[in-house]
Amino acid sequence: MQNKILVLASNNDHKIKEFKEMFPDYEVKALEDIGFFEEIEEDGTTFLENSLIKAKAVYKFLKEKGECATIIADDSGLCVDALGGAPGIYSARFAGYHDDDANRGKLLNALKDKDDRSAHMLCCIVKMNEDGSYKHYEGKTFGNIAEHEIGDRSFGYDCLFYSTELGKTFGEATNEEKNRVSHRGRAVEMLKKDLGKRL
Ligand code: IMP
Repeated sequence: MQNKILVLASNNDHKIKEFKEMFPDYEVKALEDIGFFEEIEEDGTTFLENSLIKAKAVYKFLKEKGECATIIADDSGLCVDALGGAPGIYSARFAGYHDDDANRGKLLNALKDKDDRSAHMLCCIVKMNEDGSYKHYEGKTFGNIAEHEIGDRSFGYDCLFYSTELGKTFGEATNEEKNRVSHRGRAVEMLKKDLGKRL
């Protein structure tokens, strides 16, 4: 029976799906489920700052409605070594606007003369408690940027990220395989150990 609620500070369908799969014992509510339709300006300079901005915006929204819940906010992205860690916190808008095809095209172009295609994906999750206190969790996963898109193209850089551990791109991996080794899966594993504890 699902009686525990987590409010996820995101409207990204792919993230929502992954969080729901990773929290089968919780009811995961996305922003639209709680009636939050404001644009959150992610103007932080780190993954942590951005996830905290999202968590705080949702906390304030719930508080003004006289409600409270455990909030989880994730900020994640791809960091490519030969590009000095770019696109990093700008992963969603690397091409200048949020378009996954254009972002991947820009990435392939930026790497076309580079021998080093090593990269990692990073996920920072902030868990904000009902009293506004919070803790964060960081997960990383390592790999290389493929020469061309392989597998499912529906989520961000998945079809370009060749996971060292899986020996295939995230676009080719099953949900279970990806969640087991992914940056988000790893941050969630740490978070799960703390859920239910008083932090
Ligand atoms: P955020 O919603 O501001 O955290 O943006 C994260 C962006 O990073 C997404 O739009 C994707 O471009 C990229 N990204 C983060 N996690 C993943 C992943 O698991 N697979 C593919 N791309 C990802």
